[in-house]
Amino acid sequence: MVDSKFHVVSSSVSGMSRKTILSLSAAAFAAFAAAAKPHVFSMSFKVTSLNGPIASEQAREKTFAWLRKNHFTKVWLESYRHGERVPSDLLARERDAFRAAGFAVSGMVTPTMLNDAPAGGKPPMVTCWSDSAAQNRLRAECVRAAELFDQVIVDDFLFSGCGDKCARCAALKRKLGMADWGAFKRHLMMDVARRCIVEPSRAANPKIDVIVKFPCWYQNWFRQGYSPVEEPRLFGSCWAGTETRDANPDPVQGCNLVGMLDDLSGGRCGGGWYDGLDSAPEKFVEQARYTILGGARESFVHCYDYLIADDPGVTPFGEKADRGHACAAAFEKEADGLFELAGLLNGAKRVGWNWVVSRDGTGTGVSRHAFDVDGRRYVAWQNTTGEERTLDDWNPSTQRKLLSLPDDAAATVSGGKIKLAPHAFALAECSHP
Ligand SMILES: [Zn+2]
Repeated sequence: MVDSKFHVVSSSVSGMSRKTILSLSAAAFAAFAAAAKPHVFSMSFKVTSLNGPIASEQAREKTFAWLRKNHFTKVWLESYRHGERVPSDLLARERDAFRAAGFAVSGMVTPTMLNDAPAGGKPPMVTCWSDSAAQNRLRAECVRAAELFDQVIVDDFLFSGCGDKCARCAALKRKLGMADWGAFKRHLMMDVARRCIVEPSRAANPKIDVIVKFPCWYQNWFRQGYSPVEEPRLFGSCWAGTETRDANPDPVQGCNLVGMLDDLSGGRCGGGWYDGLDSAPEKFVEQARYTILGGARESFVHCYDYLIADDPGVTPFGEKADRGHACAAAFEKEADGLFELAGLLNGAKRVGWNWVVSRDGTGTGVSRHAFDVDGRRYVAWQNTTGEERTLDDWNPSTQRKLLSLPDDAAATVSGGKIKLAPHAFALAECSHP
């Protein structure tokens, strides 16, 4: 009943094996990376690693091989974060080295710590956006990135944490005659995005694709300054944060956000972003699967620093990156399966899923996803809990074949029941839609 190889279901995938990808010349790999693919796997590099190990050719060569082996064909290189910059000449050399190795290369700016530092201290992580000095620094960083790259993503710090205690924002809010802090912040962030990001970036590089990334905490977007309908139209593209990590009671939201943002933005959602912060390896892999199951066209894995490097650098709010190497190892084990899953889902029609997976409430903690592709129906289950789950969800007359990742022991069927190991993912091929 259980097939020993996941890839037997996806013979239509026009992918390449790890061995084949590793054996390609840089030019052949570049052609492969540039070709239209069902799904792109990309990895970001923070300022910390670009100023550190990645500046060395030897470390880069090792990284190229790891990326290729795990189906990555694109990288995002960050020019600014937390007050630290990668000098433009160094970044241009690194960009050119990745390109010469065949990777597609885009840029990244993280708009943190942009205000003046208080006496004897550091600027706040979350920027006060009514500060013209911060606006000017953001504009300068966006222009610098646009001069180096044709695609730049702005990390999800385009929100305001200010309130009545911020005299500068309170004064601007009064001047604008706005009573509501949420409305004020959405107005302010649109204004900053237009004047300091989009217009100057396009002036510096008319070809630029500049992307607004939405964090996964969608419940507070409207209070903190995010406008999921207007901002993607202003920028041209948006991205969904699918970084649900360990503590989120509803991890399937990573799946939902990609589709929701794509609908709200008129098809402008380029992909999903997740990271290894505060993540057990099995939750990291779950984020990877949900990003693909949600319909993302690109999986943006953040980042080399958290997952591969010895020094993860500073995390914004003290999140832990201490399990990053274990997350990378788990990803490596799953990479072929993720690649196959993405290939299988290419062009699939989603025909329903169960949105309620509350781990600690009355839900089972298992999400169920059905989709049709090439006249066949598939059903996938993700157990988000650390416990075994048995569901009355197996119909032997239609669900013909069970395929599971990463190994066959992850799921078994008996009679009308399917048993899922802790954190298991399973996929069933059904006889007909
Ligand atoms: Zn403020």
